[in-house]
Amino acid sequence: MADVYEKHWSTGGAGVPSAESPDEAVYLLGRNALLTIKPLLWCRRHGIDRLALAVLEANPFTDATPEFFDRFSGAMALAGVGDVTIERPFAGLDKRAVMERGRRLPLELTFSCIAPVAQRHCGRCNKCTERNAAFRLAGLPDPTDYADPTAQRVNDRRLRSRRRRDASEQVLERHASAPPSVPRLAPLASRH
Ligand SMILES: [Zn+2]
Repeated sequence: MADVYEKHWSTGGAGVPSAESPDEAVYLLGRNALLTIKPLLWCRRHGIDRLALAVLEANPFTDATPEFFDRFSGAMALAGVGDVTIERPFAGLDKRAVMERGRRLPLELTFSCIAPVAQRHCGRCNKCTERNAAFRLAGLPDPTDYADPTAQRVNDRRLRSRRRRDASEQVLERHASAPPSVPRLAPLASRH
């Protein structure tokens, strides 16, 4: 993709979205169209009529919507490619639910880093942090061989601050449910 994206974080350029980056920072122009078209043509050439993509529920981008895939399939049919149904079996699941489903699978063989270091997960980027957080949320040990374990440190920090927040919220809730305490005043000395 370097011929189209040129100098871009996804092709080895600077500015790889980090753990602190917002979701929009990882958006890639035309990502799902690009990811879909070659496999779709391959399916068509091999007599396969269904193609599945693991788009998740929380994907905020317009090229992950049912409308996009419906229209994309329609455009492919118009282009003479023929009918290949695009399925999204994980569309109603979040990352935690997907991890639960894969609990007994060799998840260490999956790859999700957007800035690999010598074919290893970098451990620093937005997706490495998200990956590590998903293992934690599912209560699974993270078997990933990170080049730099920053993802784990960031998630440790988040976990600690979340625990602190939960603890202070519990204190506030206790105060809110307790009856207001009225300080008892000593009776005034009677005047003579
Ligand atoms: Zn990474």
